[in-house]
Amino acid sequence: MRFGRRFDDQRQEMVLGLRSRGISDPNVLNVMGELPRHVFVTDMWLSRAYEDSALPIACDQTISQPFTVAFMTQLLAVRHGSKVLEVGTGSGYQAAVLAMLGARVFTIERHMDLMNAARKIFDHLGLTIASKTGDGSIGWSEFAPYDRIIVTAGAPDVPPSLSRQLADGGVLVVPVGTQSAQTMIRVTRKGDRFQTERFEGFKFVPLVGKEGWQKHRPGE
Ligand code: SAH
Repeated sequence: MRFGRRFDDQRQEMVLGLRSRGISDPNVLNVMGELPRHVFVTDMWLSRAYEDSALPIACDQTISQPFTVAFMTQLLAVRHGSKVLEVGTGSGYQAAVLAMLGARVFTIERHMDLMNAARKIFDHLGLTIASKTGDGSIGWSEFAPYDRIIVTAGAPDVPPSLSRQLADGGVLVVPVGTQSAQTMIRVTRKGDRFQTERFEGFKFVPLVGKEGWQKHRPGE
């Protein structure tokens, strides 16, 4: 056990729950069964760290629900060594899941406080993850193209910059919709063709930025 046994029973319970809700990728289940989620939440929420729900983090944001993390990670189908861009670091949990799957992770967060907190956790867990504070709706062109891109905030449309920064054969997963409800979209790039699949019923905090929402309108 790489990270110790604290909350082990609750974590295994969480994994059983994910399995019963249809998550079947053994690598995703193994990693989520090992990675401590409780280190990504504030003390106030410690006892609920393994519930299948989103929880508040600083800057009025949330750590995504475990099912959503598992679902998106499964859709992304990362391989060992895949170069992955994550937009919306938040707590850092999703980035850590990807790193533990063997991906080379690049993650962007617009709130500096969240970025700093996530970096501390990555160090504490011994995970190597490239990160920067900024507007990820326009991607991170310096290191493009990416084999995989995952957006963990709700966008009004698929940001064109992200499609452009996707490698041939690459996969982009992004929730798209209004600020109150989104459809998960998986875009697969084949040369200049972009094939799209949709999965209904998700709710994220908004992607705020140049190719996202201009501002967060709570309740809309
Ligand atoms: N992946 C995160 C989910 C955090 S919620 C986790 O595992 O905890 C989504 C995050 O996206 C929030 O922290 C929000 O501040 C961030 N965000 C919203 N718009 C962004 C943008 N344009 N660029 C970078 N981060 C953004």
